[in-house]
Amino acid sequence: MTRTVYIETYGCQMNVSDAELMYGTLQASGYTPVEGPEGADVVLVNTCAIRENAEQRVIGRLGELRRDLKPGAVLGVTGCMAQRLGPRLLETDTRVQLVVGPDAYRMLPQLIDGARGGERTSATDFDLEEHYEDVVARRFEGVKAWIPVQRGCDYKCTYCIVPTTRGPERSRRLAEVVRETQEVVAQGLTEVILLGQTVNSYHDGTHDFADLLRAVGAVDGIRRVRYTSPHPNDFSDRVIAAMAETPTVCEHVHLPMQSGSTSMLKRMLRRYTREAYLDCVARLRAAMPGLGLTTDIIVGFPGETDEEFADTLALVREVRFDDAFTFKFSMREGTPATRMPAEWLIPDAVIDARYDTLLATVRGIARERNLGRLGERMEVLVEKEARKGELLQCRSRDFKTVLVQGPTAWIGRYLTVELTGTTGATFTGTPVQERQPLPMAG
Ligand code: SF4
Repeated sequence: MTRTVYIETYGCQMNVSDAELMYGTLQASGYTPVEGPEGADVVLVNTCAIRENAEQRVIGRLGELRRDLKPGAVLGVTGCMAQRLGPRLLETDTRVQLVVGPDAYRMLPQLIDGARGGERTSATDFDLEEHYEDVVARRFEGVKAWIPVQRGCDYKCTYCIVPTTRGPERSRRLAEVVRETQEVVAQGLTEVILLGQTVNSYHDGTHDFADLLRAVGAVDGIRRVRYTSPHPNDFSDRVIAAMAETPTVCEHVHLPMQSGSTSMLKRMLRRYTREAYLDCVARLRAAMPGLGLTTDIIVGFPGETDEEFADTLALVREVRFDDAFTFKFSMREGTPATRMPAEWLIPDAVIDARYDTLLATVRGIARERNLGRLGERMEVLVEKEARKGELLQCRSRDFKTVLVQGPTAWIGRYLTVELTGTTGATFTGTPVQERQPLPMAG
C-alpha cells in the first residue's frame, strides 16, 4: 500500500530546497507527496530557527496538527529548530516522534519505520560529507529550480543561529552542480538559483564561485542563472568578472548589508566596514550598469545608538536599493549576542519607531526608482498566476516583479513587456508583440 507524506515548510529558500530533497528521498522509498496533513501517514514540519516568533509559530502549529492527525500517523520536526533543540523537542511535545536535523534527511525512511514501531528519535549529528548527491529532488516550483551548492556557514555573525543549526561551510563539487543543472534543463526548466548561506565563498577544493558561475551559465539550454545569498567580503574581482561576462547570469545581487554603521557592523561581527560595503556596491555597479540591488537590514541590534541608526539610513539613501528586507532584531538563545550586556538591549518602542522610519525610507526610494522606469521594455519570465486578479506574475532579469494580463499557457515563457504602471513596489506591464505572435488563451 502506498504511504503518503506531507511536509510543511517554514523559513528560507534553503529549507524549501531541503523539503524537495526530503520528498525525493521518501518518494524513492515508496511515499507519495500529498498537499495537506489530513489523512497523511507522515507529517513533517520543516522548521526555521532564525527568529523567536518563527519557533513560536511552529510550536503553535504542532499543537494544531496533533488534533488533526489521523490515528497512527507519524509526526516529525525537521530543519533548523530540530537541530537547535534536538531531544528537548521530544520532551516538550509527546506527540512528536522524530526530530531530524538538516544532515540526517537520508535516514528519514528508516527513522519513520522506527517511529511506526513506537520509537521516538532525535537525529541531529552533522555530516560534513553530506550533499545528498544521489537524491533526486522532487521539485514543485514550476519554472525555475533551486540548486543547493553549499551547506553551512563559517562566518559567526553575533546575531545568527545558522552556524549552530547548519554547521560549518562545505561546498558541493562543481561537476555535481553542473550535472544537476543539466537534469533541470532536461525537465524543461530554464532558470536556476544557486543556493548557499554565503554562496560566493563557494570553493570545492579546485573551483571557486567564479568558475561555478561560468560553468553553470554555459550549460546548454540555461537562460537565467541567479544565486543567493552572497557575503560582501566574498565578492572577489574574479566573481564580479564572471558575473558580468556570463550572459546567462542575471543582473541582480541580493547583498546583505545589515547595518550602515562600522561600529555596529563590528558588534555584529560582519567583518566589513561601511566603506568596504560601499566599495563592493561600486565595483558591482561599475561591472554591471543597471544592476538590480536588494539587501537585508536589521534594526535594534544591542547597543544601536541614534547615530548608528542614522548611519544605516544614510547608507540606504546613498546606495538607493531596489528593495530591502527589514528585520527587527530578535535575540536567539545560543548566539554570541546573548552574552552582550543587558543594558545594551534596545527598548521595543525604539526598535518599532526605527523600523517604521527605515521601512518608509526603503519604500520611498524603491517607489522613486520604479516610477523612473515606466515605459521601459524588458524581458520577463512568466512564473505563475498572480495572487490577486486574473494576472500572471513575471520576473525581470534584474528581479522586478511585473504583472501582466494573459493566459496561463504563457507560464514558463519569456516575454518582452513594456512597463505601464507601478504600485511603488511591483509593476504592471503589457506584452509587446515581437517577431512571433503570442499564443492566445484557450
Ligand atoms: S554569514 Fe552571518 S548571517 Fe549569514 S548565515 Fe553566516 S553567520 Fe548567519
